[in-house]
Amino acid sequence: MSLNVLLLGPQGSGKGTQADLLAARLGIPHVGMGSLFRQEIATGSELGQKLSLVLEKGDLVPSDVVDKVLEKRLLGEDAKKGVIFEGFPRNMDQVTALDAILATLGMSLGRVIYLNLDDKEAIKRLTGRRICSNTACGASYHLEYLQPKVAGICDKCGSALIQRQDDNPNIIEHRLAVYHSETSRLIDFYKQFDLLWEIDAAKPIAAVAEEVYRAATFK
Ligand code: ADP
Repeated sequence: MSLNVLLLGPQGSGKGTQADLLAARLGIPHVGMGSLFRQEIATGSELGQKLSLVLEKGDLVPSDVVDKVLEKRLLGEDAKKGVIFEGFPRNMDQVTALDAILATLGMSLGRVIYLNLDDKEAIKRLTGRRICSNTACGASYHLEYLQPKVAGICDKCGSALIQRQDDNPNIIEHRLAVYHSETSRLIDFYKQFDLLWEIDAAKPIAAVAEEVYRAATFK
């Protein structure tokens, strides 16, 4: 049986952090669109250059590009037992695209977990976020809430920590506006199918992690 879980919520709600923790606990991969995109950008490919321009502005990546990147990832051997999706889908077109890709691969979504957080706290988290400069690692930290053992250095791989290009106040505001106008309507959509489980993401990381695990594994 494969278990496919989707984490939804505004930027900064902890999707990446929770997806990593849940992936380690369930032994299935975390498929984060943001980090897949950043890996593609790091290769310097033509597709990567196109992605870089879109991400710099805080806009949504065009569907055909998303489909290509996602399908390639889901064909990986490690995705057979299930995956944790995060950062995709972000609008109704992408919901349809995800359904189609999953159906082609004989998969479906088992649960959608909604991490609910207000904009004020989301902005605080995003401005303090630091990520590992090694795109293959992609670990995420916070200057205050999740400090690495040595300041500025990734615990997992020893690379330098950097600020994401889209984690600056003007772009954050735009990203949250895109979330409210496009992504938030997915919550009502998944509610209809009884797939949705809502969690208060303002709690500390460990408390949210327990609830996410319960939501993902609840029969
Ligand atoms: P998203 O993937 O939803 O954009 P992240 O997982 O990257 O969010 O989290 C954004 C920032 O907030 C990171 O710096 C992370 O360390 C921090 N963070 C995540 N969850 C919590 C939490 N429950 N409490 C405090 N800080 C958190």
